[in-house]
Amino acid sequence: MSPFHAILKQYWGYDAFRPLQEDIIQSIAEGRDTLALMPTGGGKSLTFQVPALAKEGTCIVVTPLIALMKDQVDNLKKRGIRAASLHAGMTRAEIILTLDNCHYGDFKFLYISPERLGTDLFRQRLVQMQISMIAVDEAHCISQWGYDFRPSYLNIAEIRDILPEVPVLALTATATPEVVEDIQRNLRFKQSNVFRMSFERKNLAYVVRATEDKNKALLNILNKTPGTAVVYARSRKGVKETADFLTKNGLSADHFHAGLSHEIKTKKQRAWQNDETRIIVATNAFGMGIDKADVRVVIHMDVPDSMEAYFQEAGRAGRDGKKAYAVLLYHPSDASRLKKNNSDRFPSKESIRTVYASLAYYYQIGVGMGCNSMLPFELMDFCHRFKYNYNQAYYALKILEQAGYIELTEELDNPSRIKFTLLREQLYRIQTSNSKQEQLIQLILRRYTGLFADYIPIQESELAEQLRCSQQEIYQMLLHLSKAGVLQYVPRKKTPYVIYRMDRVDTERVALPRSVWEDRLERSVKRIQSMLQYAQSTTICRSRLLLAYFGEKKSDPCGHCDVCLSKTSQGIRHHQYTACKEHFLQCLSEKDCSHEALLQNIDLPERVALEILRHLCDTNRIRFDAEKQLFVLSKKN
Ligand code: ADP
Ligand code: MG
Repeated sequence: MSPFHAILKQYWGYDAFRPLQEDIIQSIAEGRDTLALMPTGGGKSLTFQVPALAKEGTCIVVTPLIALMKDQVDNLKKRGIRAASLHAGMTRAEIILTLDNCHYGDFKFLYISPERLGTDLFRQRLVQMQISMIAVDEAHCISQWGYDFRPSYLNIAEIRDILPEVPVLALTATATPEVVEDIQRNLRFKQSNVFRMSFERKNLAYVVRATEDKNKALLNILNKTPGTAVVYARSRKGVKETADFLTKNGLSADHFHAGLSHEIKTKKQRAWQNDETRIIVATNAFGMGIDKADVRVVIHMDVPDSMEAYFQEAGRAGRDGKKAYAVLLYHPSDASRLKKNNSDRFPSKESIRTVYASLAYYYQIGVGMGCNSMLPFELMDFCHRFKYNYNQAYYALKILEQAGYIELTEELDNPSRIKFTLLREQLYRIQTSNSKQEQLIQLILRRYTGLFADYIPIQESELAEQLRCSQQEIYQMLLHLSKAGVLQYVPRKKTPYVIYRMDRVDTERVALPRSVWEDRLERSVKRIQSMLQYAQSTTICRSRLLLAYFGEKKSDPCGHCDVCLSKTSQGIRHHQYTACKEHFLQCLSEKDCSHEALLQNIDLPERVALEILRHLCDTNRIRFDAEKQLFVLSKKN
């Protein structure tokens, strides 16, 4: 057994690697910069976790999604692997403690959000640590060509200067050929080195259903397709209405979106995962980190704005390898709505600058100041103060992010946490005059462990219940103990952050170059066109269209999408037609031959096969020469 297999078995209990995992592990373990492309759910995490466990030192994992970061760290800890994370919303003391723990505590993994890589504190510590490798998850974020570019991802390249010998493993689920090049260049790969798994999903049938009445079509599909389902819709209002509609029609359905509280989201997700709810109607906030294998159908009520997004969401169906469906409901008005939404995403440069000025005013940041400030941000409050329309402000901030002035983090739910400042002996010695406080300290000591070494999450509600008092009282007592130097208390906070990536500049000096406005608009229009082409095409296999978009030029017609199953005018299935046509072209590209020879071993009716040949002649793809031999004129499709 190889050491990698042994690690896989020991920590995860799995017997074998999945396709490509081992090649990627081998490549990075040999110290080569490596880019791995695998669809979501393909098993990317193990490709850095396993080799990192086999090596001395700490593996740095860069990932932009803090929720996923927390998940993975918890997961590793459960398997007895030492892992920690650094992200927005942590206090300076917590960060220092985490870095110390990594340095002295032989941590195997340090998860970090990209904006943290840029801080001096981190860079100073980095040189003292022994780093085994750098894993870059969601690596498409480093490319301007991607749909989700994050300027702070460019910090990773700078880290490579500090650690020139440390290899990089970049991972992504969606990458067009341009993005693949860009990732390797921006991460300064010593040599191009890409492992690509085909994105083909043989058990997944893609279907586009054009309809005037989406609700009716939805009901119809769900009634005909038994089993677990995900329905994606664009708006929060939409998901609620659709779920209500399904419930009224006797189906087991619930809705989900990012605006719900953490508890409710967890509850809904769990009920769906345990098959208590059959159908979850959700915005695109649903699905990340969710691993349910037996989803039989994913239905989109609205057309997503990129193939990347569509493939990722649709791909959540049929992870168990059994037959599943991905259905897109399409109405002609979708095209114009998509185009209009897209133009909303690019407010005028002037209004972007105004938003920039308001933001500085909001936080009282003067010109020439503010770099690296990390500020809790409430978009609603901001809009209210300055009378902005929500979308207008949001998209202006997003463009300022692309231009590298600021960064907006996702909303994080950081639980309250405490750490004792006093040593245990000192704690026993202090006598507070307040017996309730003493009770609280006793309770905390009984209830939680590790409080002397680290910040430990607590729940005020639980403490309140045990002490028979209100949460407000607990809060006050903890604040008091914090002020008295007994412990450090960080109350719960649920908010996104704005981070200034550079000092504030004069409003007129805010540079909004082509690369962040015109070029991005253009690319975004192209992405939408590809998506619409997918939704509107009636002649090209859906699976093929998707794969071609991701750079896989050669694939067979899938044989079970709506296009393949539709009938041609000769009354045969489209995919049979396509397969036969391609077979003819293939044979003729190898060798000229007579039409009789060509028609041998074709299991279509001769009449149809002849008609396909005639069509190829008519469209100047093939021709007869003087000896009645057929030959190929042009090889393009
Ligand atoms: P990705 O990051 O590519 O979306 P993950 O790394 O989250 O995928 O893996 C998806 C799931 O597949 C996880 O539950 C993981 O434990 C499981 N998995 C990965 N590799 C293997 C393997 N070799 N054998 C069995 N299960 C695996
Ligand atoms: Mg992943």
